Amino acid sequence: MKWIDGHLDLAYLEVHGRNLYEECCAAEEKCISLPDIEQSHVATIFGTICTYPKKGPCGYVDSTDVDAAFQAGVEQLEIYKRLEREGNIRIQHSGCTLDETLSTLILMEGSDPIRNAGDVAWWRSQGLRLAGLTWAIGTRYAGGNATGGPLTDEGIDVVSAFDESGVVHDASHLSDESFEGLVQHAKGVIVASHSNSRTVLGNDSERHLLDEQAKAIFESGGVIGLNLCNQFLSKTFSKTQTTATIADCVEHVLHFCNLAGNKRQVALGSDFDGGFPTKFLPTNLKHPNHLHHLAEGLKQAGFEEEDLESFAFGAWQKVFA
Ligand SMILES: [Zn+2]
Repeated sequence: MKWIDGHLDLAYLEVHGRNLYEECCAAEEKCISLPDIEQSHVATIFGTICTYPKKGPCGYVDSTDVDAAFQAGVEQLEIYKRLEREGNIRIQHSGCTLDETLSTLILMEGSDPIRNAGDVAWWRSQGLRLAGLTWAIGTRYAGGNATGGPLTDEGIDVVSAFDESGVVHDASHLSDESFEGLVQHAKGVIVASHSNSRTVLGNDSERHLLDEQAKAIFESGGVIGLNLCNQFLSKTFSKTQTTATIADCVEHVLHFCNLAGNKRQVALGSDFDGGFPTKFLPTNLKHPNHLHHLAEGLKQAGFEEEDLESFAFGAWQKVFA
């Protein structure tokens, strides 16, 4: 069975020094490179352009440092274009297919590189298919999960521009207040590319979805991508030990399926390796070629063959058909 991974920070990893052409051998530290993905059944990814100020080499001061943020985004876009020229990946500008060779839909995680609403059509022409207004710390467009704050007037304009260009809204990392603003103003489909359930985790972090937020996503026709970071899966996560299991993954998926009233609106948004080492991935799920363990867990929990295909690829395909 082939897979679509709804959240993979491929360009971000290269910007932060990863050699994408070399297989990852330090299993405790990393698991994503081109050969690693090729070893797996992941055929299509949503590859991010992930930027944020201050920390790391993204190269801009803050969200108002508009031109530098644009450049930081273009730098990551150019990585996908280079990989495409080399024949390593195909950028899917429309539809969402499973091909023999790896392909990507471009996902913007944090919209600082969009200088203003007028930029959105250009980004769409470059392959942008889905976008979140902010990473954790907020942007001039929206409050992030770590900072709080509303959708701004500029953010509302960008949301409308996404709708006009057919860019799908990604709600992961929005503050609760901005999530509400997005639901109020968005006309198109809302997804959460890599988010889990706040109810299942039993904490109050705005990084995770409230039940009412999950329902709003499902009502828009959207999909939630399961994030595989232990900290977002296990109620008992501790940085000193690996505690999440396939059972934790299944619990989040089943909770969302209950809220949706079906098994066709939850999928994978692994975030494999995106800013956290593989030791913080669940047992038996340390690498994209371990995904069959997750499918097996869902099967044991009552997923029929067609439900499994939806989780692995069909649900995402439906959003981007
Ligand atoms: Zn993220």
